[in-house]
Amino acid sequence: MKKIKSKLKRGKLRAVYPGSFDPVTKGHIDVARRAMSVFGEIVIAVIENPSKKTCFTVAERVSMLKKAFAQEGLEKVRVDSFEGLLVNYMKKIGAGIIIRGLRALSDFEYEFQMALMNRKLFPEIETVFFMTDAKYAYLSSSIVKEVAFLGGDITPAVPEAAALKLKSKKR
Ligand code: ADP
Repeated sequence: MKKIKSKLKRGKLRAVYPGSFDPVTKGHIDVARRAMSVFGEIVIAVIENPSKKTCFTVAERVSMLKKAFAQEGLEKVRVDSFEGLLVNYMKKIGAGIIIRGLRALSDFEYEFQMALMNRKLFPEIETVFFMTDAKYAYLSSSIVKEVAFLGGDITPAVPEAAALKLKSKKR
């Protein structure tokens, strides 16, 4: 208890959920909702990676996330973006927890590697994984884009804000 209190004092329980969110899906929202029930404050942080080709700009992804969380009634979630190393961004905003989502076994190897690398870079930071609801376990931003651009209905998979944006990109 003492340990948790001192962590709270140092703001260590502020959690960051980093990702590409290109675009946000209902799987991401589900993970964020679960994380919010455990951590007081969560920041959704869009990774600005100039070498990674994305469909939406950082500003578009941030705006979709803000709209999606507001539509879900989760206004307390902060949405931000960062460039460079995640641990440096976390130090800057005083966060101590990384949130990541897990789907099937395929996520494990990459997530395991990332978590251990981040621990090496900044040992005080912990990575915490949340498992999504089974109904979103098949979802990824890439499959959503593929289906949307082929004319399929993606409304069960993404929040309204992302569905509208995907439609406008198609044209
Ligand atoms: P990245 O490019 O960093 O993997 P993503 O936006 O694809 O970013 O995903 C961010 C995080 O959310 C990752 O931890 C990923 O495993 C998780 N995630 C993505 N889709 C889902 C989903 N449907 N259910 C649970 N977690 C998910």
